[in-house]
Amino acid sequence: MIMRLIMLGPAGSGKGTQAEMLAKKYNIPHISTGDLFRALDSNSDLRKEIKKYMDKGELVPDDLVIKILKERLGKPDCEKGFILDGVPRNVTQAELIKKMGVEIDNVINIEVSDEEVTKRLSSRRVCKNGHIFSTIYPKPKKEGVCDVCGEPLFQRDDDKPEAIKERLKIYHEQTSKLLEYYQNLIIPVNGEQPIEEVFNDIVDGLKWM
Ligand code: AMP
Repeated sequence: MIMRLIMLGPAGSGKGTQAEMLAKKYNIPHISTGDLFRALDSNSDLRKEIKKYMDKGELVPDDLVIKILKERLGKPDCEKGFILDGVPRNVTQAELIKKMGVEIDNVINIEVSDEEVTKRLSSRRVCKNGHIFSTIYPKPKKEGVCDVCGEPLFQRDDDKPEAIKERLKIYHEQTSKLLEYYQNLIIPVNGEQPIEEVFNDIVDGLKWM
């Protein structure tokens, strides 16, 4: 069976956490464009160009996003499916993905209020490998250190207040339009529940092709 999933929801809705759990359960890759961008060589021109947008919480231009995504989706581990996290971010990207011949089976929409998003993002701490913790919940065992890989935890530039505001604005102006675009595939999930309950709702909602 094949499972090609998109995770929708504002930044801080728990998309990344849930995508990681789904990737383990179904043994398919979790593809986050944000993580792909952060993993680019920090001295490369491409990374420097992309970072300008990321630090302000603005969207990276669609052509760059799609180029990097296409490369990733071409790898053999995507043959049995994949979970897209943070992409598409607007209808243009959704159309470009369709043009690539990529089919989508389910679109999970994780619903979380702006207030909750702001609280979660401003308390979020990550390590350089993309593991996510919080100063509120879930805290790492040792303050400032990743439980998984022992790397230091830090606050992303785009989790700072001005960038959070910008990201929410873009979400409401652009990303939320994807709910209409994918209307027949959407599975709505309440993201303001404990992580395990959100996960169970997603698993129960998935439609297998
Ligand atoms: P994320 O880790 O998904 O929150 O993404 C972090 C930042 O990377 C975003 O605020 C954007 O600047 C950029 N980004 C990630 N994915 C996309 C995308 N699909 N389109 C445009 N920009 C993106």
